[in-house]
Amino acid sequence: MAEVTIRALKKSYGGLQVVHGLDLDITDGEFVVLVGPSGCGKSTLLRMIAGLEEVTSGDIRIGERRVNNLPPSERDIAMVFQNYALYPHKTVAANMGFALKMRGMDKAEIDSRVKRAAEVLGLTPYLDRYPRALSGGQRQRVAMGRAIVRDPQVFLFDEPLSNLDAKLRVQMRTEIRELHQRLKTTTVYVTHDQIEAMTMADKIVVMQGGRIEQVGAPLELYDRPANTFVASFIGSPS
Ligand code: ADP
Ligand code: MG
Repeated sequence: MAEVTIRALKKSYGGLQVVHGLDLDITDGEFVVLVGPSGCGKSTLLRMIAGLEEVTSGDIRIGERRVNNLPPSERDIAMVFQNYALYPHKTVAANMGFALKMRGMDKAEIDSRVKRAAEVLGLTPYLDRYPRALSGGQRQRVAMGRAIVRDPQVFLFDEPLSNLDAKLRVQMRTEIRELHQRLKTTTVYVTHDQIEAMTMADKIVVMQGGRIEQVGAPLELYDRPANTFVASFIGSPS
């Protein structure tokens, strides 16, 4: 089971509290989008799930395990960022397999995982190329490939498309959703773009000022926004 359970989760930086007691249930295989204006705490929440940021108080569980005090490498998650830096002197295949190699996985297993991920992502013809010879969309796929080869229980995405141009962004939304249909990996996807949230999510979590304003399916939020903040945020043009 790969559900993610969050209870009374708080985060302060020094004296400044930025996450105020969040409760959230993410079920196995669900595609959840965290959406809200810049500075509302989306990345902080995601980074706490990833183990990249310490929890001030509260609990995070992945499956049955309480992960609060586990380092990222022991959480069975994989994260895709907005600023994905590929290794310029490694091929696509080597970029995708590098983290596995560092963990001491044997070469045959790495090759087979890289091959499978490349098929899923349409990267098979590019495995021997270097990053400089790839388009922006292809690089983004390689970044996703690095996450997929780890076969994690949970994918975490932090605004992975915000550096892409508008046309590619729309195309990648569809690709990421199709990928989820195939792999059914529990996914937490952060964006400040309400259109992205509405088109991609099974379930949307609307945040503001370190709090959750509403959780629901896209149409539910659209039909019955819980308050004027949700109504104006969801209803405003992107
Ligand atoms: P979002 O991802 O929704 O834009 P963040 O989670 O990055 O928001 O930030 C939430 C709040 O926490 C913001 O007010 C931000 O300035 C603050 N913050 C984020 N990281 C740090 C940090 N390392 N030190 C101090 N304040 C931070
Ligand atoms: Mg952020």
